[in-house]
Amino acid sequence: MNETIRDHIRRRERRLLLIALSAWLCIPSALVVTEGRTQVLILIPAVLVLAGALVAGMLVRCPKCQTRLGELGLGMAFNIARPRACFCPYCGVRFDTRLLLAVPPTASPVLGHTRVDTPR
Ligand SMILES: [Zn+2]
Repeated sequence: MNETIRDHIRRRERRLLLIALSAWLCIPSALVVTEGRTQVLILIPAVLVLAGALVAGMLVRCPKCQTRLGELGLGMAFNIARPRACFCPYCGVRFDTRLLLAVPPTASPVLGHTRVDTPR
């Protein structure tokens, strides 16, 4: 897998922004198509999902140091951040580094730490 840290962050941010866009599209659709109590039942979850996805976009972390990237991560979603970020401002890892080289599997939060049994 040749995914770089930049690709990894970009993929996560784009997924969250797609969720936010879908929720945002539900709001005018619900206002036009439905009315009364049904409208409220659609609008409240749509607003909550929209807000949650936007907040989650700000909470995406650097895969190496696990520090939240905030606006830097959001800007990387569509390459709109200027100047283009080249490295993590907290740990210094280059965003063009392959993800597997920067984050060894034993340090992965997904895989957890490898348990090593010691003889007694
Ligand atoms: Zn970092």
